[in-house]
Amino acid sequence: MSRTRSTERHDLLVGGERVEPAAGEYAETVDPATGEAFADVAVAGESDVDAAVAAAREAFPAWRDTDPAERGRTLYRVAELIRDNLEDLAELETRDQGKPLSQARSDLSSAARYFEYYAGAADKLEGTSVPVGTGQVDYTVREPYGVSAQIIPWNFPGNLFARGVAPALAAGNTTVVKPAPTTPLSAYRLAELCAQAGVPGPAVNVVSGAGETGAALTNHEGVDTITFTGSVPTGQRVMEAAAGNVTPVTLELGGKNPAIVYPDADVDEAVSWVDTGIFTNAGQICSAADRAIVHEDVYDEFVEKIVDVAESKELGPGHADPDVGPLNSAGHREKVTDYIEVGKAEATLVTGGGTPDREGYFVEPTVFTDVDNGMRIAQEEIFGPVLVVIPYSDDEDPVDIGNDVDYGLVAGVFTDDVRRAHRAAQRLEAGNVYVNKWFGDTNQTPFGGYKKSGIGREKGLAALDSYLQIKNVAVNLESGGGGDLPGA
Ligand code: NAD
Ligand code: MG
Repeated sequence: MSRTRSTERHDLLVGGERVEPAAGEYAETVDPATGEAFADVAVAGESDVDAAVAAAREAFPAWRDTDPAERGRTLYRVAELIRDNLEDLAELETRDQGKPLSQARSDLSSAARYFEYYAGAADKLEGTSVPVGTGQVDYTVREPYGVSAQIIPWNFPGNLFARGVAPALAAGNTTVVKPAPTTPLSAYRLAELCAQAGVPGPAVNVVSGAGETGAALTNHEGVDTITFTGSVPTGQRVMEAAAGNVTPVTLELGGKNPAIVYPDADVDEAVSWVDTGIFTNAGQICSAADRAIVHEDVYDEFVEKIVDVAESKELGPGHADPDVGPLNSAGHREKVTDYIEVGKAEATLVTGGGTPDREGYFVEPTVFTDVDNGMRIAQEEIFGPVLVVIPYSDDEDPVDIGNDVDYGLVAGVFTDDVRRAHRAAQRLEAGNVYVNKWFGDTNQTPFGGYKKSGIGREKGLAALDSYLQIKNVAVNLESGGGGDLPGA
């Protein structure tokens, strides 16, 4: 791999040490605003993944047995260090990922919040006692699995590192993290901050690389639980790999999320939330508001206003903190522009659709109208700044249209009618429902998908279930011999 143009080199983090990959392979990471490579990052092969898993396994018993209050205090210090280094982390993330600086700052403050939140949970992971009668005492304990593999995508790299690593560590697991090949840098920096805060070095390992590195990790018999965020096809491969060792998986796999605008909605408010929902991070968000389903009475007004918003967006490199930054990679931009071509053949392009004549991987904010829910641009995740608007009439049920996709991550309704809002919330097939807002979830609220959007929950106390297994202990209080049959 070419190292001549790059200025920095990043080695693997295994067992608390930065080490060269066994095969000596490095890959460039580029600044998506310019397309220029600025760092060489180690590509971990099978033996490197072996070493990282072995280090995490060895570190597990001591971390598991650390006083939970001390584990919590240590994680709290990680949160403080992330805050102390917020500006540097945000700049690093912007350069590697492309997003506007204020969005990177928000991602990393939220990363600090994950460590703070799960720090507080570390000494509250209580079991239950089960009333089975006077002859026996029965209780449950919640125990960590062991080594948690974390496979991270490129859209919220530092934030999703924290979303997985913080609850994994709070529960007493150790971790091996595989960041995405185009955005590996924040994972290394955050892992160093974990060590600086006092997390034992071998408890947080980072093995950068692409799909082969991820596969080496998810196929590894030394991994005890897998957390994956990314696309459906890769998630399916991860699940197949996990089946080999009967390893539990938590999968967060994207969405095609309906934003239903009822005729009584405040249209300006709905437009403002859909704007945030689709154009933040250039639409590269699993919970993007990418499918607006709008009643015909307010359809023209909604379209006119969202088009105005789209046309007012300032595009630019993330460090200049524009409204919309570049997409993360050349390959991903091609995927998005291919979908725009599909959309032009299926529906009406009212604004955007082009790629500005400048360096970097930019795509104009794009709106398609006259979209039918059966079209490909309404069914498939585009993962770019592309909104599809679907009109509906009184003869149609917008919740049925909203549910008519394979995904079920998030859904939103805009209405001033409280009964209508709650009825829709009951029927929407999604792990998260927003009423008169978008991105309503916080670090404290459970997040995850129905249908093909995934398995299990991230965030909130619910995430701890991915990192803890239940052991039941039955103690006989009576003397004398056996007699109970299994199942009695
Ligand atoms: P991907 O699913 O291929 O990659 C996600 C992560 O999995 C990366 O770290 C990748 O290196 C790793 N990986 C790839 N192959 C693997 C394998 N066989 N075993 C284990 N790990 C493997 O996603 P992508 O190619 O980076 O992006 C493609 C699409 O994924 C996007 O267009 C979008 O639809 C979706 N996506 C969803 C989210 C989300 O938040 N749900 C995030 C990013 C991407
Ligand atoms: Mg990059």
